[in-house]
Amino acid sequence: MAIDPKQTKILLDESEMPTQWYNIVPDLPAPPPPPLHPGTHEPIGPDDLAPLFPMALIMQEVSADRYIDIPSEVLDVYRLWRPSPLYRAHRLEAALDTPAKIFYKYEGVSPAGSHKPNTAVPQAFYNAQEGVTKLTTETGAGQWGTALAFACSLFDIECEVWQVRASYDQKPYRKALIETFGATIHPSPSVLTEAGRQVLAASPDTPGSLGIAISEAVEVAAQDPEIRYALGSVLNHVLMHQTVIGEEALLQLAKVDETPDVIVGCTGGGSNFAGLTFPFLREKMAGKISPTIRAVEPAACPSLTRGTYAYDFGDTAGMTPLMKMHTLGHDFVPDPIHAGGLRYHGMSPLLSHIYDSGLIEAESIPQLECFEAGVQFARTEGIVPAPEPTHALAATVREALKAKESGEETVILTALCGHGLLDMAAYDRFFAGDIVDYDYPEEKVQDALTRLPMVGS
Ligand SMILES: *Cc1c(COP(=O)(O)O)cnc(C)c1O
Repeated sequence: MAIDPKQTKILLDESEMPTQWYNIVPDLPAPPPPPLHPGTHEPIGPDDLAPLFPMALIMQEVSADRYIDIPSEVLDVYRLWRPSPLYRAHRLEAALDTPAKIFYKYEGVSPAGSHKPNTAVPQAFYNAQEGVTKLTTETGAGQWGTALAFACSLFDIECEVWQVRASYDQKPYRKALIETFGATIHPSPSVLTEAGRQVLAASPDTPGSLGIAISEAVEVAAQDPEIRYALGSVLNHVLMHQTVIGEEALLQLAKVDETPDVIVGCTGGGSNFAGLTFPFLREKMAGKISPTIRAVEPAACPSLTRGTYAYDFGDTAGMTPLMKMHTLGHDFVPDPIHAGGLRYHGMSPLLSHIYDSGLIEAESIPQLECFEAGVQFARTEGIVPAPEPTHALAATVREALKAKESGEETVILTALCGHGLLDMAAYDRFFAGDIVDYDYPEEKVQDALTRLPMVGS
């Protein structure tokens, strides 16, 4: 059948939903470095993680299987928003006057408004199966806290969320949404934990950070055998759950007979980027396609492009295993003038390893350019993007303008991983001229190096 050149939404039927997650690890040229015990610096085993995670997720974290079946209970919940639509951005292309073809996979159709429920639902499911009664977690912008609160409500688990103070104050409706799904939420740092009390004693006015909020949530989970902890990004199993995004996008592009030349995505901890790109990277490593695959991060939090590739803690208090990753230092506190999410000090160890292996590229973009791209996208495509994917859109615009210059019909694929309808305060600040660029200073990069844990030296 001929393809309608005006086709805008490329849709899959529910029967075409992927039934397996893709684990990229066995396809890589070398395995990623193992996580280490924070005390002994020896590689950790599954038992070391058991106080924090259910065994089913720990086994996925270390799995050597290329594919893992998605449980039918999870697939049934996925049906609420999956398969998600792939859009052709005809109007953005016209506004940019580019011969490039722009496709975006839209994850804002989920109940939380982002890709996060793709992993929140299986995480809540496996915890419920193992008899866990409560999950703790951190959240930055609030997307992950919302997603986990939603998932816990479906499987009858309690959920307690620590939200980074700066976001808690700036985004009151996330709190209301999280409470609507039945969870409890606290600003972080809080007086409820030892980690929180220590930070508050040293800096009472701190805006907080994801690293601090993780310390609080981990501390509470580690003290009670009925409570486990859930992480919304960074870990291998989280990235794997997100591969449903890329598997669907592969099928959708095939339907319109297109192959991507460039794939760009925003990276905070790496999960939406990995979810979109790993299935394409599999095809690339098999020699079937040859797209450039590029991670995009904020110039204010450039862990991949400027951070050091070294063993560091996942949290501020140093309670988590040591992971080899691109890091700005575990005591990193993001500058509050930066409006976007994507402000974690580290990057997924798996994605860091893949970047280090030369399989993907990375770039950082300042936030004014990102907001400009986000507003242009809203005015052409009609969807207000979350501040995080405006980084992916800014990279998309850069590629589309390059194509205009060269006259090439570059096929660009990106993920619009969330809508921004609960982030309008950031757009308000942008329109008021209160958003300014912030370049992460080299002194801070160097300073963080002096406080990295000494491993293997
Ligand atoms: C959480 C979140 C991010 C950052 O996390 P990744 O793991 O890098 O995907 C980006 N965009 C949105 C909309 C998010 O909710």
